[in-house]
Amino acid sequence: MQDKIGLKVAFYVTQADIGRFGGRIRTVANRLPCTGRTLLQEPDISDLDIYDEALRSTANKGASAITARLRRAIETGVYSDGDQLPAERQLATAFGAARSTIRKVLDNLEQEGLVYRRVGSGTFVNYAGPLANTVGDVSDLISPLQLIEARFAVEPTMTRLAAIHATRRDLDSIEDVLARLEGCGNDKNAFSRWDSEFHLLLARCSRNPLIVHLYQQINDARSHAQWAAMKDIILTPDQIGAYNNQHRGIYEALTRRDVTSAVQLIEEHLHKARADLVGASSD
Ligand SMILES: [Zn+2]
Repeated sequence: MQDKIGLKVAFYVTQADIGRFGGRIRTVANRLPCTGRTLLQEPDISDLDIYDEALRSTANKGASAITARLRRAIETGVYSDGDQLPAERQLATAFGAARSTIRKVLDNLEQEGLVYRRVGSGTFVNYAGPLANTVGDVSDLISPLQLIEARFAVEPTMTRLAAIHATRRDLDSIEDVLARLEGCGNDKNAFSRWDSEFHLLLARCSRNPLIVHLYQQINDARSHAQWAAMKDIILTPDQIGAYNNQHRGIYEALTRRDVTSAVQLIEEHLHKARADLVGASSD
């Protein structure tokens, strides 16, 4: 039964199986070490009859059927972004398929962009959720003002966490970006690019992958054409200087671990961005 190790029960279970086995399958699923990473613990042998029964019920063991099962496992979060899939040999045994079929399955998933392969280490999930694939559409729908509202929802908390968790190396990276921001002069595009980077670094310092993911989407929206047009009106040399004073204040609050000031300053930064945007819209 060694070959079962590391495989998730979800691979074997169809809707019909759940109907037939009901809660027992869920019980097995809960007991299996389902982290999706390399698993070392063997499932309880008493559960394997259900396991095998479910496996036998898989009518179609062709590449497209197996691809569909794995695709579903990835899309429904059985395997998360960055998780390693079981080895080719294990998948072949689990699905009762030839290794060449499994290779074709992994080729399919790679072409769909759902996994990537690292030579010598294995196959990894590359799927951050449906939102990541639709962010382009979201960016097309939201206005610059809505973008700032979203930043208000995320940035004060991420800055609070950054003040707590930022390492010396993080602070050095922020300082480098700050120097680039302050060296932008009147170059609006350079300022905008390094400004995005500055705020993304703050997100990374939160040490919360979901906040980083959200912020990457916010940055994607910032490159939207509507915002690009507003940027040209808003970013006068004086305004660039004022924004950079705020950036430096935020950086210094982080170096002092001054959570209250850091949060207050990022809020002032966003209030200013909103006021400038509203002012520019009414001109
Ligand atoms: Zn900024």
